[in-house]
Amino acid sequence: MAVKSVALVAHDNKKRELVDWVSSNQQRLAPLALYATGTTGRLLQERLRRDDIHTLLSGPLGGDQQIGAKIAEGEIDLLVFFWDPLEPQPHDPDIKALLRIAALWNIPVACNRASAEFILSSTCMTDPDHRAQRPDFSDHARRRVE
Ligand code: PGA
Repeated sequence: MAVKSVALVAHDNKKRELVDWVSSNQQRLAPLALYATGTTGRLLQERLRRDDIHTLLSGPLGGDQQIGAKIAEGEIDLLVFFWDPLEPQPHDPDIKALLRIAALWNIPVACNRASAEFILSSTCMTDPDHRAQRPDFSDHARRRVE
């Protein structure tokens, strides 16, 4: 399977939508490892009665950065992040950093329910031959700065 682990994050006004989406896709998500920021993860655990969701710190307390670190380490294959386009967030730099690191490491990102539906119903989700291209940054890692 191409996608093995999913990170789930939702801002407060979007949490209900994310929980609904996860509830209506429980079967497809069942074989995947789920990671979530603190409050999102707790809500999902309560609603789904799933105690195997890896719940990190709350987003504003560092949870977004923890998810970003896991993406950089290759532990997360898909980010479902329902961020709120109508309300400023105190941890805006962390949100930007998370979206940047997901773009950098070329993982699929769904920022709303429609994209999440498209991604989850893609054959790439289950095709054993599909491998997301993890970029090779070895030149950057080896670069010398005088
Ligand atoms: P939360 O964090 O799940 O702890 O609310 C989400 C976020 O705001 O990044």
